[in-house]
Amino acid sequence: MASNNINGPGFSGPGDPPPVPATVAEVCDNHSVGVVITDSRDRVLLITRATLPVGRAPIAGHRDDHGSVEDTARDEVAEEVQLTVTSLVRVVDGRWRTNACRRQHGPEGLGHRWTIFLATAAGEVRPDPAAASDAAWYTRAELRVLAGRTIAYATGALTAPQFAANPGLEPAWLAFVVELGLIDNVDPADLAATEILASTSPYTLPTARSR
Ligand SMILES: [Zn+2]
Repeated sequence: MASNNINGPGFSGPGDPPPVPATVAEVCDNHSVGVVITDSRDRVLLITRATLPVGRAPIAGHRDDHGSVEDTARDEVAEEVQLTVTSLVRVVDGRWRTNACRRQHGPEGLGHRWTIFLATAAGEVRPDPAAASDAAWYTRAELRVLAGRTIAYATGALTAPQFAANPGLEPAWLAFVVELGLIDNVDPADLAATEILASTSPYTLPTARSR
């Protein structure tokens, strides 16, 4: 790594493969499935992630051996918040993104092929502490505030510890949230800075070291 500012996001640039500690055994399968669940008031369910990368995010997980992407979506929703999916509409289909996860890089290197669903679900939200320290429904205005925190972090206005203490959206999700029309008025330069943050190893960020 060329440099790592302990007071900032520690960008190394997207061309610099970020390090993952050798103690991490899990290997990425380069395939992520995200599930954007809305309720009857059109609010979006986000978990506060208990694992790296830090952030609040829709339900998501690696496809691994779950089966189809639909199976993966249902399984991840059940595992992370104990809801039962009642509808799934695929809105992003196999999009490659160079976002970093907490695992060793997969066969295709740094990044994931993303499938995203809009979904509804039934039951009572009960987050699995292994996946989420919290789960809650967010209005569009609240999503915009969380996006603002992520942009502030990506552009150096918030430090990693400040972001971790009250996380905004997980960086990789900002582009999807904009694409899906859940928020608007995001400056392209802010989005670009957040994309760099999303491709930075979560282990290079100061708050990650004690986890
Ligand atoms: Zn991964």
